[in-house]
Amino acid sequence: MAFLQGLDSHIVIVGCGISGIGAAQKLLNQGFHNVRILEATGRCGGRIRTGRIGSKTVEIGANWIHGPCQDNPVFRLACRYDLLDAASTSEENQAVDVGGHPPYVSNWFSSSGRRLDPELTEPAAALFQSLLLECQDFHASGGEPAPSVGAYVKARAPGLAAAEWRDDGGAARDLGLATMSALLKLECSISGTPSMDDVGLGAFGAYKTLPGLDCTFPAGYEGLIGCMMKELPEGIVSYNVPVKCVHWNGSVQRPGPCGRAFPVWVECENGDAVPADHVILTVPLGYLKKHQKTLLSPPLPLKKMHCIERMGFGTNNKIFLEFEQPFWDPDCEAIHFVWEDESALVDVVPDVERFWMKKLACFTVLKPAERYGHLLCGWISGHESEHMESLSEAEVEKSVTQVIRRFTGNPTISPKRIMRSQWYHDPYTCGSYSYLATGCSGFDIDTLAEPLPLKGSRTKPLQVLFAGEATHDSFFSTVHGALLSGWREGDRIISHYSPSSFSVSVSSKL
Ligand SMILES: Cc1cc2nc3c(=O)[nH]c(=O)nc-3n(C[C@H](O)[C@H](O)[C@H](O)COP(=O)(O)OP(=O)(O)OC[C@H]3O[C@@H](n4cnc5c(N)ncnc54)[C@H](O)[C@@H]3O)c2cc1C
Repeated sequence: MAFLQGLDSHIVIVGCGISGIGAAQKLLNQGFHNVRILEATGRCGGRIRTGRIGSKTVEIGANWIHGPCQDNPVFRLACRYDLLDAASTSEENQAVDVGGHPPYVSNWFSSSGRRLDPELTEPAAALFQSLLLECQDFHASGGEPAPSVGAYVKARAPGLAAAEWRDDGGAARDLGLATMSALLKLECSISGTPSMDDVGLGAFGAYKTLPGLDCTFPAGYEGLIGCMMKELPEGIVSYNVPVKCVHWNGSVQRPGPCGRAFPVWVECENGDAVPADHVILTVPLGYLKKHQKTLLSPPLPLKKMHCIERMGFGTNNKIFLEFEQPFWDPDCEAIHFVWEDESALVDVVPDVERFWMKKLACFTVLKPAERYGHLLCGWISGHESEHMESLSEAEVEKSVTQVIRRFTGNPTISPKRIMRSQWYHDPYTCGSYSYLATGCSGFDIDTLAEPLPLKGSRTKPLQVLFAGEATHDSFFSTVHGALLSGWREGDRIISHYSPSSFSVSVSSKL
């Protein structure tokens, strides 16, 4: 009987990214029928966003399934919908276990316009990789000899470089260290942080990788969202309805449908007020950081506010560049730019307005060439990236072209097309993805994910629940982390009405 009453509950999901869609799937599959998604923009998918440059399909947001194996729910769904190619779904691909990306086949260019010798760049990359592995180990081993990943790497690298290039004189050592600066900047993009000085050393290893060589969706990541949406009832999403404030704990007293009182009322920017028994908030951490003081009434408990402030949410953008002819080798997967004046391990540009483009240290080559032609994706993070967003596309093109000409020593290279993402200025994302900042730990993620009212309250439980990538303690910043978090909160409500079924298992099946 209690379960049947639960199925009539009014559930509002705020945000139609993959976590919101996942939560809706779970609840609808269990028979909850009063489920509604309120989405601020005119589209679903959130940070999964596929676009076009010329005739080519590119990912403006999420690019890869990280760790495509049976434990990855995004991989399982993509297989079920038949969205991947044979190579990505093969047993061999699923079995590769390299803890993230294997090293790319790379071409290295320096600011004096020359190609760098692999005899120099390969040991520098190996040293850098070994330092990152050391950083990851502190999570399990405990102890934190430096506050941040950046501080640790910057302290250790000069000694290692001096030993590596002891016979070659200072020039090779300095160039080796400048090479590591380029890799440190790339790591800022991967972690989605302004500087690796902002990423907590002890927390760095909290992010878990899954086996499987990262793969992409040949027809675009948004195809996954399209398939998931087809399984939801038509009309479940209200688009272009930004939520202004979630009034919880009975702070708004008015009769809802059938004259019933509801513990939560969701106030929308358009003036609508939607009653709910449960609200699942899936807005990005960046949005929460900016709006947490007004998004809930009564305001969030202090411990949640403080953890939202402490946790990291940074910007990582892409700049796509299409060329008539490649200036890279046929087997090249990544191009790195090494600024020779950066032997002091630099991952933040001092004069952002003049030199923001120095942060753009790596381009990946989109493959296969038959599909993409000669297309590069440049990666740029941090305040430099945020500044880049404020420039016109023509200004970005001019600066990036100048840099490419300088590094290749070819004064005539010009991209034929350019396109960039602007995640920081997206008003409903306010950045790219979360990271564990200095002073943070998995406890902050757990606190962020804790539903309202907090444990111990005597008011109606599970009024406001929290999902989204930033609430997953080991897969934060990923699509699979976001999906699992949506399933987790769907399950939490299901279990509330039927306690035996609650499961937060990573491998939980739909
Ligand atoms: C450049 C970039 C590259 C990435 N690359 C990868 C990758 O290769 N692999 C990977 O696994 N992950 C990647 N990610 C991360 C991945 O995209 C996200 O972790 C995931 O998509 C987040 O899903 P979500 O549902 O938590 O949030 P979102 O997708 O952001 O969904 C939240 C939704 O809430 C809506 N919203 C916000 N405020 C309101 C409001 N007030 N009212 C109503 N609706 C609101 C938003 O419009 C949005 O639709 C990348 C992200 C970026 C930006």
